[in-house]
Amino acid sequence: MEEGDILTTLKILIIGESGVGKSSLLLRFCEDTFDPDQSATIGVDFKVRTLIVDGNKAKLAIWDTAGQERFRTLTPSYYRGAQGCILVYDITNRQSFLKLENWLTELETYSTKHEIVKMLVGNKIDKEKREVSREDGLTFARKHHMLFIEASAKTKEGVQCAFEELVEKIIQTPGLWET
Ligand code: GDP
Ligand code: MG
Repeated sequence: MEEGDILTTLKILIIGESGVGKSSLLLRFCEDTFDPDQSATIGVDFKVRTLIVDGNKAKLAIWDTAGQERFRTLTPSYYRGAQGCILVYDITNRQSFLKLENWLTELETYSTKHEIVKMLVGNKIDKEKREVSREDGLTFARKHHMLFIEASAKTKEGVQCAFEELVEKIIQTPGLWET
């Protein structure tokens, strides 16, 4: 990156049920690693990574829940000012898919930006035991005006793409992208 280049900072959230792989997706995207023994709470509030999409440089501050999802609601400050949100479920866990509506309700309650861009991610596609079809994920995403992708934090599949498509949509949304 050249000195003097304009960098736009974006706040991105990762939400979803405990155990779906939010911290793992973040670790894969920011450090390109996977820890099979990832403990439930890693205590990290957010990670930063710079991404170039269509010639635009974005510094993503990606907020992880640090295990707070166990308490059912995150604090309003977690949601404040976010331009993008990644909502994750585990394709091998139907329950995590059924809870998506609750997460969207919470997001709508606390999000301060009405036009926040939402990406639905069906994680763990490397696993055999599927409980949620791709079709179900896609239908849910369409119904709620969300982008959609299936991914695996373990094999990397779809991870980079999920963040790139989210940022691409943020750039195209008036009022979200300001340099
Ligand atoms: P979080 O509670 O949503 O942050 O979930 P974690 O990132 O802590 O992951 C929960 C468990 O699922 C850990 O044992 C991870 O290693 C595992 N995991 C996360 N993503 C994947 C994936 O894509 N594939 C597989 N096979 N396991 C995953
Ligand atoms: Mg976590």
